[in-house]
Amino acid sequence: MNAIERLEEVTKIPEPHEILWFLDGNVVLATDVYLFKVHKGVLSLQSTVFRDMFDLSNAVISTDGGNEIESVQDTYEGVPLVTLVGDDGEDVAHLLRAVYEPRNRTPLDVVVALLLLSAKYDFKGVWANVVVQISRQYPTHLQDYDAVDNDDNPLFDVRRNGCPFTLLCAAFKANADVLLPILYFACSDFGMKSVIFETRENDTPSDCVNTLLEGREELDRALNKFIWGLPELLRAALRGGRNQCNANPPCVEAFPYSYLSDLISSDFNRTRGSFVADAYLGPGCPNCKLLVKNAVETAREEYWEKVPSHFGCPEWHVIERQLDELENS
Ligand SMILES: [Zn+2]
Repeated sequence: MNAIERLEEVTKIPEPHEILWFLDGNVVLATDVYLFKVHKGVLSLQSTVFRDMFDLSNAVISTDGGNEIESVQDTYEGVPLVTLVGDDGEDVAHLLRAVYEPRNRTPLDVVVALLLLSAKYDFKGVWANVVVQISRQYPTHLQDYDAVDNDDNPLFDVRRNGCPFTLLCAAFKANADVLLPILYFACSDFGMKSVIFETRENDTPSDCVNTLLEGREELDRALNKFIWGLPELLRAALRGGRNQCNANPPCVEAFPYSYLSDLISSDFNRTRGSFVADAYLGPGCPNCKLLVKNAVETAREEYWEKVPSHFGCPEWHVIERQLDELENS
């Protein structure tokens, strides 16, 4: 870049946004690349930060994000001009589009921008909407989670396994506490190399990383306990169903409990009851397989119930109640 280009870069003037430029708008928001001519009433209705700012028309307001909204007496073509310092123009466009067009077609970067900016400017409706949207993709019931827990599934316009670390970081910064336990859990299902890389890449706050690492270690311990308890669990299930066993010799005697160590992996998928029954009781009779599957699922439920506690979060039923409230707000 030569000196003239650099000068042009520095002095680049933001231009009116193609869509978010309402002729009857009564305030212009300025960002690095765009100007938005929008409505004070619409913003005030949804954002307490903007409402307060328009109330105190000369104020300089500091928000939690540390950036300042400077509301000086500038005008743009006769309309008050508010400069949003430090916010990316594209991100603000996502936020304003969510305010004006509440739809659900949302790629990951938009979801993140919506979560962060709606928290920063206290757009309660947008915030609740995006939190609920994310929670639907990361359900708190084990069976629902199993149903969507596939790395290759598409999610927010990328692959599912490309989402959790970005979402965790954004949820943490946006005080979306109801999303934290399930996102901590989803991130714990990755190897340590990915955890280190992804948390760095996303610039994740250290408190969030610490909680993730400590909880991940506790989860590992709980998973080991679960797996080492399997032979006992399976034997008890098979003994209990001895009378219904169709095999000769009966499965309880034939089942070898071999390769159990294969189950010890950070991939939670591989602990499903049907997986365990197929992998470790391959030649067993259908009745015994069903018993084993059910016994494993019951043990998994117990493991699942304790997941939030490993990350210092409230139990699932508390989270679910808070999500219900958000959905109905
Ligand atoms: Zn059997």
